[in-house]
Amino acid sequence: MIDCCLFVRLESKVAIITGGASGIGESTARLFVRNGAKVVVADIQDALGLALCEQLGGPEGVATYVHCDVTQDADVRNAVDEAVNRYGGLDIMFCNAGVWGNKFPSLMDSDDGNFRRVMEVNVFGAYLGAKHAARVMVPAGRGCILFTASVFSATAGSLSHPYLSSKHAVVGLAKNLSVELGQHGIRVNCVSPYIVATPLSTRAAGKGKEELEELASSAATLKGVVLEAQDVAEAALYLVSDESKYVHGVNLVVDGGFSVTNPTFA
Ligand code: NAD
Repeated sequence: MIDCCLFVRLESKVAIITGGASGIGESTARLFVRNGAKVVVADIQDALGLALCEQLGGPEGVATYVHCDVTQDADVRNAVDEAVNRYGGLDIMFCNAGVWGNKFPSLMDSDDGNFRRVMEVNVFGAYLGAKHAARVMVPAGRGCILFTASVFSATAGSLSHPYLSSKHAVVGLAKNLSVELGQHGIRVNCVSPYIVATPLSTRAAGKGKEELEELASSAATLKGVVLEAQDVAEAALYLVSDESKYVHGVNLVVDGGFSVTNPTFA
């Protein structure tokens, strides 16, 4: 059931959200549907994704779940085909799926498999999403591709070498694609949050939301800067809606000022 909305900003748009079953992706799926979009939730957490789409779609069928491991070409292709076959096209690809991986105290202690896995999901997965979206968007001459990077795409620190490297790479990918795909009328941007209260951050930090707030309050400029997933979803909505039609090739940092005051973070 679509909630009553004063301004419906994505009317008749079709979106895919990878990592859409949880956290930022889930919140964005809810917001996009409330704004009139039809949404394909692509994730590997089938039970969560199906339950979300059941709740969102209801009898109107505006949300569909597809099992999609973003590291698998065939899965990503299938998610895009599902959007086209079910809803008639693809306007928005939100490449949001991501993993933190394991934390290692130093480079020498780190694990090669962990590095590969983080890069595979966060970077290769983002690349596959963009590639298959372009297959539909280039002939249509329009579309939006949005990546979730991280404030750690703009800062350094010893938190996690694989994660920080992967998010820098996502921004690099987005910038390059904005040059190529802009020629075809496709906008490409990133959204880069600071700490958001989601399963990813609580798992990574081994802390609950209150402890995350303590950690954040020592660093950021705005009070209570642990974000809610909804805060990122609102930024994502702006970046894929017509209100941002000339915003292209940017990395929108949503961090309460953290990256201004904390260029490095250990
Ligand atoms: P989350 O764990 O709640 O959601 C991530 C989703 O990605 C999950 O549903 C998970 O199943 C899915 N996923 C993981 N591997 C996948 C794969 N191979 N194929 C498809 N789906 C897969 O965490 P979140 O915080 O909502 O993370 C969303 C994005 O936001 C990630 O890219 C993350 O790096 C980024 N981010 C998170 C924070 C934070 O503090 N939570 C901050 C900055 C950026």
